[in-house]
Amino acid sequence: MKKKYILPNQNEERKRQKEISYESFPNYETITNLGEGKKYYLRTYGCQANVRDGESLSGMLEMMGFSNTDSEWDADVLIFNTCAVRQTAEERVFGEIGNLKRIKDKFPEKIIVMCGCMPQEEVVVQRILKNYPQVDLVFGTHNLYRFPELLKEVIEKKARVIEVLSEEGRVVEDIPVRRSLISKGFVNIMYGCDKFCTYCIVPYTRGKERSRKIEDIIKEIELLKANNYKEVILLGQNVNAYGKDLGVEDGFTDLLRQCAKTGIERIRFYTSHPRDYKVSTIEIMKEYPNIMKSLHLPVQSGNTNILKKMNRGYTREDYLALYDDMKARIPEITFTTDLIVGFPTETREEFEDTLSLVDHCQFDMAYSFVYSPRSGTPAANMEDNIKSEEKKERLQELNDKLAYYALNNNKAYVGKVLKVLCEGTSKTNKEVYTGYSEENKLVNFTGPNNIINEIVEVEITEAHSFSLNGKVIENK
Ligand code: SF4
Repeated sequence: MKKKYILPNQNEERKRQKEISYESFPNYETITNLGEGKKYYLRTYGCQANVRDGESLSGMLEMMGFSNTDSEWDADVLIFNTCAVRQTAEERVFGEIGNLKRIKDKFPEKIIVMCGCMPQEEVVVQRILKNYPQVDLVFGTHNLYRFPELLKEVIEKKARVIEVLSEEGRVVEDIPVRRSLISKGFVNIMYGCDKFCTYCIVPYTRGKERSRKIEDIIKEIELLKANNYKEVILLGQNVNAYGKDLGVEDGFTDLLRQCAKTGIERIRFYTSHPRDYKVSTIEIMKEYPNIMKSLHLPVQSGNTNILKKMNRGYTREDYLALYDDMKARIPEITFTTDLIVGFPTETREEFEDTLSLVDHCQFDMAYSFVYSPRSGTPAANMEDNIKSEEKKERLQELNDKLAYYALNNNKAYVGKVLKVLCEGTSKTNKEVYTGYSEENKLVNFTGPNNIINEIVEVEITEAHSFSLNGKVIENK
């Protein structure tokens, strides 16, 4: 097999390009029949940014004539859209790709693709080259739009192709998309991250912050609205930094205002960073009813010394002041967060600061993790002096507290009526609908026929830690 390698040079990674070029998706008219009568299987790992990339991969494949299948054995092209955030998840991906060898041995014409964040690490590409000959195509996050061309090359030249770029100088618009949900549309507003938290690989795999132009974002939202989507979820690693790279001061507030004016029924956004939050953003959230009053605001630790070691760029006091200010301005706002326990050198007292911060904020939900080192990040070189048993105990203690507040907060909704966007029926019981309230509460409920993709009023009858039960108010 012919080989074509363009490998990332991680030493160059921090020498970022100054200029970002804005381009349109190439005209691939000549390859639109490549997948005629063929099927693809797509597995996406990780965060919502990856889910959105998965929608673009599906869109490009369907543009080429491929149709989707849930069976690896049935597929002509198998795509693994990977996540690099956790080392353990990476090993799982390698395990799964390793298992595909028996499919490839039996059906050598099947094409196996690895893309997403993992290939942005040079060590991953080297490992694929050395140990995984069954993988035919590898590309990264910066050249996703080139997928049709790369796939064509693999098919026509019977060549193994590896193209991973270390520079992230392009924002490509109008990539075909196959949406995974019927009522909620993910909309990227920016790519990459400049924060370099010491435990995180994302700035190395997704590149520097690049904002999409506001007119392109609004165009996408208007199209979703015209197609009867009720909710948009604006995505970025750090949405509050939107527009900084375009030289726009307070760009995220302005973007939110313009999104709200499109009249789409619901707007949410992930992920916020406490460091870049502005009062004007809180005021816009308050002003427009279609901007949901629920916020995911990762804190990671309640101790200033640990936050400094994490390079988070704020103190415990900064976070609490921001939280209190938001609660004062929008009393009904709900909060979720991310927490890491057992970061290198974290003492019992420092961990207790996290517990006391949780007591103060009483989060509605939190993603909590034991710290695990991620190679390629500065924290992986820090002395990790906390025993694994101790880390697990701290996580349990934290989770007990989080579950207590989650249930307590949810109990306050019993007897109340919430507006719920009905997304479909429950996976386990087709008689029960499921959806999210404005407060971002997962609600399982009963109701009349034909309400999928409608916003309905649901009376809450029961509360659990992570969901609510209820019934649609009839005649509404
Ligand atoms: S803000 Fe920090 S944790 Fe979030 S993506 Fe950027 S570097 Fe990673």
